[in-house]
Amino acid sequence: MEGGDLTRCVVCAGERFYSQRDFNQRLGCLVAGIGAALSPFTYGISLLICLAVDLGLYFLLKQVTVCYRCGAIYRSVPKNPDHGPFDLHVAEAEMQESRYLRRGNP
Ligand SMILES: [Zn+2]
Repeated sequence: MEGGDLTRCVVCAGERFYSQRDFNQRLGCLVAGIGAALSPFTYGISLLICLAVDLGLYFLLKQVTVCYRCGAIYRSVPKNPDHGPFDLHVAEAEMQESRYLRRGNP
């Protein structure tokens, strides 16, 4: 790999990536769940606070690059403008491609 630029996955040699926030989904759900559970007692204020926490986490967290094919997460690569957000169509194409490749190389 030259220049630290990610063009090929070191795990599966896939060439398609998407970028997303390094966000812990479970933590986000937990925060939202606590906010919702407490909202009847706090007249919805806790829900607002938890939403704010969620939003704060979202902006604090760094972007990570994820491999479509194997799901490998790259945290220390510079952001590549070619890597957009997750695209279901690309994921499907990647899945079919890897299935095809597997069939070709038994
Ligand atoms: Zn990969």
